[in-house]
Amino acid sequence: MDIRADICVIRFAELSTKGKNKKDFVKLLRKNLIEAMRQFDGVKVVGSFDRIYVHLNGADDSVVLPRLQQIFGISTISLAVKVSQDMDQMREVAIALMKREAKTTFKVVTRRADKTFPLVTDQINRAIGEAILMNTDHTVDVHNPRIKVLIEIRPGEVYITVNTVQGAHGFPAGIQGKALLLLSGGIDSPVAAHLSNKRGIELECIHFQSPPYTSQAALSKVLGLARKLTAGQSEIRIHIINFTDLQLQINHFIPESYRITIMRRMMIRIADELAKKRKCKALITGECVGQVASQTLDSLQVISDVAILPILRPLVMFDKNDIIAIAEKISTYEISIRPYEDCCTVFTPVNPVTRPAIYKAEFYEKAFDFSPFVIECVEKSETIFVKYNEKRAEDTLF
Ligand code: ATP
Ligand code: MG
Repeated sequence: MDIRADICVIRFAELSTKGKNKKDFVKLLRKNLIEAMRQFDGVKVVGSFDRIYVHLNGADDSVVLPRLQQIFGISTISLAVKVSQDMDQMREVAIALMKREAKTTFKVVTRRADKTFPLVTDQINRAIGEAILMNTDHTVDVHNPRIKVLIEIRPGEVYITVNTVQGAHGFPAGIQGKALLLLSGGIDSPVAAHLSNKRGIELECIHFQSPPYTSQAALSKVLGLARKLTAGQSEIRIHIINFTDLQLQINHFIPESYRITIMRRMMIRIADELAKKRKCKALITGECVGQVASQTLDSLQVISDVAILPILRPLVMFDKNDIIAIAEKISTYEISIRPYEDCCTVFTPVNPVTRPAIYKAEFYEKAFDFSPFVIECVEKSETIFVKYNEKRAEDTLF
């Protein structure tokens, strides 16, 4: 008997959420799921208070399931087969599903949402359990079964499930509102993006480029990374800042050892301005203590000093290996290691200060009036929309 899954049953993660919070959580998760399922013809998302059902309507579960596993806010996903309220049919499907599994232990668990069904939970458990025992090699283990055969009796229909997989957990992206991520072409900031999405933060990105010192290919690389990030939120806005004029000013007026520090402070000022315009509640970076000269505690202090919004640094205590492991999992690593210049690298001084002081940074910044440059950077920013699964010409450039 060839059976295909009809429905994916979605259970929620982080169930500490209650009352109104839970309502918002479910509403947003459903919206994110509808968005993510748009690419599959016929697939329908139907919500209830404690679950969401994704009706496949003929779509291939082996393609839909991996996409569902990328959506934050889901604890587990079960593939269910829909049958009518008929014990013979229920037995037949349960046996067929369990025949596909290698010899294992199981237990039948019934949820009787439709109280008019003539048999009670215990009777259904026993009947289906016996049928599986008689027709397969599996054995029953009521305490610690490897497979739970879930039977859900609903008005007019029954869902049968043997296959439950883990979801991405976390919170639905957007439940916390928006933050602005400083996205470079490196390994770290895309990982910071992923972790932020998982905490329920929706992102807009800001990227600094310095043409002609940075190339179109470097920008394509960043757009390629953003495309990968649309696994966590279906579309992302990237604000491209032309940083060249301000960097040339920095190069001209600021002593070499402080250039990186001042450049970072300018990036934060610009990001702050833009975040205000875009109603973002925080800035996010891929910074990590100790990684490079600009990421010592002293540097982080001097950089943070100019920020108005909080700067979130999800990777601040991570080891590089752990960051790379996540980058590989979310498929950004491959793109990040491609060798294109970043606006930071083209102007990197030989000996950047590792222990900058706020008063010195402030003193050097008095050498020129940077405010008009900051304002111009924000005003002349260009916005690019990147969507899940959409191919653009730039994607092929790198
Ligand atoms: P990454 O791997 O994310 O590039 P990194 O280890 O190379 O980080 P830095 O180059 O010092 O470290 O950058 C630290 C953080 O500053 C980045 O994680 C990113 O958030 C931000 N950043 C750096 N360069 C840019 C840029 N060109 N545009 C936007 N943000 C940037
Ligand atoms: Mg970098």
